[in-house]
Amino acid sequence: MPVDRKRGFYDEARETMSASARQQYQAAWLGELIELAWERAPGMRRRLQAARLQPKDLRDLDGLARIPVMKKSQMPDLQQADPPFGGFCTVPIGKLRRIFRSPGPIYEPMGPETGGFHAETGYYAGGFRPGDVVLQTFAYHLVPAGHEIDESLQLVGCVVVPSGTGNTETQIEIAKAVGATGFVGTPSFLMTLLKRAEEMKAGRLPFEVAQVGAEALPESLRRSLEADYGVMTRQGFGTADIGMVAYECVEKAGMHLVDEAIVQVCDPETGAPLPVGQIGELVATVHNRTYPMIRFGTGDLTVITDERCPCGRTSARMLGWRGRADEVTKVRGMFIHPRQADEVAARVTGVVRYQVVVGREGHQDTLTMVTELGPGVAGETVRASLEAAIRDVMKLRGSVDVVPAGTIPEGAKKIDDRRSWD
Ligand SMILES: [Zn+2]
Repeated sequence: MPVDRKRGFYDEARETMSASARQQYQAAWLGELIELAWERAPGMRRRLQAARLQPKDLRDLDGLARIPVMKKSQMPDLQQADPPFGGFCTVPIGKLRRIFRSPGPIYEPMGPETGGFHAETGYYAGGFRPGDVVLQTFAYHLVPAGHEIDESLQLVGCVVVPSGTGNTETQIEIAKAVGATGFVGTPSFLMTLLKRAEEMKAGRLPFEVAQVGAEALPESLRRSLEADYGVMTRQGFGTADIGMVAYECVEKAGMHLVDEAIVQVCDPETGAPLPVGQIGELVATVHNRTYPMIRFGTGDLTVITDERCPCGRTSARMLGWRGRADEVTKVRGMFIHPRQADEVAARVTGVVRYQVVVGREGHQDTLTMVTELGPGVAGETVRASLEAAIRDVMKLRGSVDVVPAGTIPEGAKKIDDRRSWD
């Protein structure tokens, strides 16, 4: 019997709960987490006191938004001022199981309890099953990825080969010898292993399922991994500080948010939560009692949808990574990002080069997509499609200005903000 990787849940009751049940569940752990952090994490207490807040002010999700966002970029300084963890660790250092050091430098404590990374739900949703033998090829030294994911895989019931990075030919040899059905690592390394095995005439690798991350997964690469090599390939989103916060299900239409993280998409300048569907900074509060990151601003931009997913999970979904928060431009109250300009252009055939120009007429911001077209492409049809794509992707009305080839200078910025404020 082949393994059914497409149906089922890691924790069905939790993954399919109603919106109000989810709010209650999250409010319950949030209240306990904030009390704990107030008592045992002096760094967190200092943040709350600076904002004139006490745990009793913060018992629900509305209250949470009153805590100023803590930017990831502040963390190295905060930790240097109160080493090693900035006062954010709730347990004595001797009780930890591991300490990681991520670029920054940022030090992250792990343990004493297991599962602080919250990746197990996503691994199951992505097709991993008990008994899978998994090559875990993320790094095992300094950074958390290797050990934390290893732990999540064990919670699912998988057998882990902690093979770490590199050593392509040894990895191929191991995968064959142990009959590895699962792979964890970057999508490019997975493709390298599959191709190298072919070159070595080692036969087909036994991988059936893969969870990939740490770099972009182009749909063309996923298609090849799935269609040419038969590897069901899903991705997740997480960082060293907050763990895994979102994962793809069988539908591969956005990444479900885990119930152990409260994700808010926020105005990168003010930290205020934005309405569903708008682009903003991913701010996460994570149910980790050892290292409670509360309103942690990742600096990554994303968009969330709360439309129901056919897989049956009821959590909202993150529609991918949309760039860094320090690259956004605010137009008529909405943030736009260079990657959105790319997305608009990609939806319409015939567009060769483009630049979004933001200007000001009277008291109104203007948005114009200056566009060069390929030979023989009719300006009028492209204009209407581009305007519709701008409305859809950027949630703004914009106009399109078709210009002769060569008008947009070489190396021009994707978004040119020409407003002056004096
Ligand atoms: Zn789904």
